[in-house]
Amino acid sequence: MHGGAAPGRGPRLAWVRMTFELPDGTRLELPPGATGADAARSIGEGLARAALGAKVNGELLDLGAPLPRDGGRLDIVTSRSPEAVWLIRHDAAHVLATAVMEMYPGVKISIGPPIDDGFYYDFEFPEGVSLSDGDFEAIEAKMREHVKADEPFEREDVPVGEALERFTREGQDYKVELIQDLVRDQGVETVSLYRNGPFTDLCRGPHAPSTKRIKAFKLTGVAGAYWRADASRQMLTRVYGTAFLSKDDLAEHLERLEQARLRDHRKLGRELGLFLFSELSPGMPLWEPGGTQMWNELTGLWRSENAAWGYEEVRTPTLYDVDLWKRSGHWDVYRDNMYFTDIEERPMGLKPMNCPGHTQIYGSQRRSYRDLPIRYSEAGAVHRHEPSGTLHGLMRVRHITIDDAHIFCTDDQVTEEVQRCLDFGFYIYDIFGFEPRLELSTRPEKRVGTDDMWDRAEGALRTALSEKGLDFELNEGDGAFYGPKIDLHMTDSIGRSWQLGTVQLDYSMPERFDLTYTGADNADHRPVMIHRALMGSFERFIGILIEHYAGEFPLWLAPVQAVVLPIADRHADYARRVAGELGQAGLRVDVDERTESIGKKIRETEVRKVPYMLVVGDREAEAGEVSVRRHREGDLGAVAVGQFAARASAEVAERV
Ligand SMILES: [Zn+2]
Ligand SMILES: [Zn+2]
Repeated sequence: MHGGAAPGRGPRLAWVRMTFELPDGTRLELPPGATGADAARSIGEGLARAALGAKVNGELLDLGAPLPRDGGRLDIVTSRSPEAVWLIRHDAAHVLATAVMEMYPGVKISIGPPIDDGFYYDFEFPEGVSLSDGDFEAIEAKMREHVKADEPFEREDVPVGEALERFTREGQDYKVELIQDLVRDQGVETVSLYRNGPFTDLCRGPHAPSTKRIKAFKLTGVAGAYWRADASRQMLTRVYGTAFLSKDDLAEHLERLEQARLRDHRKLGRELGLFLFSELSPGMPLWEPGGTQMWNELTGLWRSENAAWGYEEVRTPTLYDVDLWKRSGHWDVYRDNMYFTDIEERPMGLKPMNCPGHTQIYGSQRRSYRDLPIRYSEAGAVHRHEPSGTLHGLMRVRHITIDDAHIFCTDDQVTEEVQRCLDFGFYIYDIFGFEPRLELSTRPEKRVGTDDMWDRAEGALRTALSEKGLDFELNEGDGAFYGPKIDLHMTDSIGRSWQLGTVQLDYSMPERFDLTYTGADNADHRPVMIHRALMGSFERFIGILIEHYAGEFPLWLAPVQAVVLPIADRHADYARRVAGELGQAGLRVDVDERTESIGKKIRETEVRKVPYMLVVGDREAEAGEVSVRRHREGDLGAVAVGQFAARASAEVAERV
């Protein structure tokens, strides 16, 4: 009998097949060495054409890379997969670098990753060359050539020495530094290069098979960025772009960006005279009359609804002896976010939260189980230190006014109180048309209290949610150190998500402040504390409202609700009388007495987004009427002044 093949390549090996499980549960057997492309082809020609990459056990691979011998779960990535857009954005970053290197000889390239919503590439341009968005069209045209040319992305694993030699020769210092770091930190001996057309990059990959898979792209911005985010290193030019799998997707994305830009609350806040910021009080807005009107409407809503829902309003100090913060635990875990000062040599701290103050009121007298629940609300201004780099308009400030409340209740009351908080939240959000989404966060690794306590607390929150039939997302391990919580997230009118409310159980603070109540058994018991905020903070909430409504506020919130526009100077007296009468009815009304054409006055009032324009001329003055124009809707006809007042007041009262 003859032996088989040469040692080491026995025929048995050819029979060893790799086994993969496909998304539909079927198994796929492939010979060793097979690639994602082979897998796709063996499933179907259509899939082979649509394939962009492969995913094995969650890891994304080039379509041309050999699949792991151990097999596992295999997904073929097509344009319908969530990973697809990530792949082609990475591709587009390389194509951007390809174009820039061709157009700007001597440019140095550093890194170019895909990011949320797009990609970027960082460049160092030669002396005297700078880039602005005016250059984008030409760069995009060059990129388009490379996309059209359908250049394949080809991977090559090369020894470190060869790669170093190559990039040194090309004067690509950043690549050289990256390779040296890989050798030093990870001890690598080979690195992977990706080539597309004339361009070769040091890159981990993966990439789609070729440049033509980038169906739509656009450069979106240019900014400075330090090499390795290190302010002591070279300042590079970062070019941002985005790419999509269809032209429609790109158009939709650009429209969303434009919408967001038009709605930017910092821009509208300035234009509408709502608030401003000063270099002398970073992160602390100054509220102009218009913004203060909105603020007052919201706090009015907050005050009346809190009373209706059984809360008692309290007011507590801003400044406390640090002893309070030591006792509350803030000194240990929150000190870095606080501001301190000495007063008559006594160290004091500005409050970052209202809770410890409320415990002082609760603990000031004996409480019986019959008194519970006790619900304190406070529109409490707190100060938190946010690093200056993270400050962002009203969305992230250092002076924060929370629509805060603390509920002190018995263990048995927790579920019902949490449900009341949620109901109250839903009621408030409904006024603004926000659709809430709930998240339950459970015990974190670092926590206080016993497992038994956490079991009870998490159980109470789960019961509160399930009894009401509410869907929620579970965030395991994301609770506060003192207790589990439910967070309420909102989606605004252009689909962005914001966290507004939170309902948190706390067994720790009552302990720290030794809070008690006398039970029916005449013994002392610990109350449970619930921290809850619904709007979050008035600052951020107003920022969100400005963007949600794009500055076109419902009548009850509008800083100026109507402007009376006299047609000629001789109508100014009548206009003032109208404004006076409407003011008496509780409406916020201006008169535009400038000697300008009525057309110009109307146009300018439209720009201010004032809900109503009341045009008055001879006819109106004689009949005691106003000609009503609604922002965006136009002419609504003439009505008696009293009739308009009644109609507008009803609209305000309904908060529509
Ligand atoms: Zn890359
Ligand atoms: Zn609190």
